[in-house]
Amino acid sequence: MLAQAARTSATIGKIKMNDLKCPHCYSAVPWGAKVCTGCQAEVDYGAPNIAMLAVLVATLFAGFWVSSTFGSEMAGVIVGMVLFIAGFALLAKVFAHRAMFHRQYRTK
Ligand SMILES: [Zn+2]
Repeated sequence: MLAQAARTSATIGKIKMNDLKCPHCYSAVPWGAKVCTGCQAEVDYGAPNIAMLAVLVATLFAGFWVSSTFGSEMAGVIVGMVLFIAGFALLAKVFAHRAMFHRQYRTK
């Protein structure tokens, strides 16, 4: 799993495993850090929530479609679950090396 992840990051090239660059202050931030060492921006890893929600909604619709088309709720549930797991596995793979910096401008 780790070796596979390392290979993927090598092919992406732009983002190295242990060297992120903060888009706000251009500090080098080690991979896995929760906050930027330079400006305290929060770092999020993995799939964005909207993508996970899209997968959830899509699998729900697919499940309902299967159950109504084939007249079997069980088939719908099974198809929905399989797609759900596959969708999340795909998301985890696609966004494995995604890091998002959120800088909070605290006004209080
Ligand atoms: Zn920063």
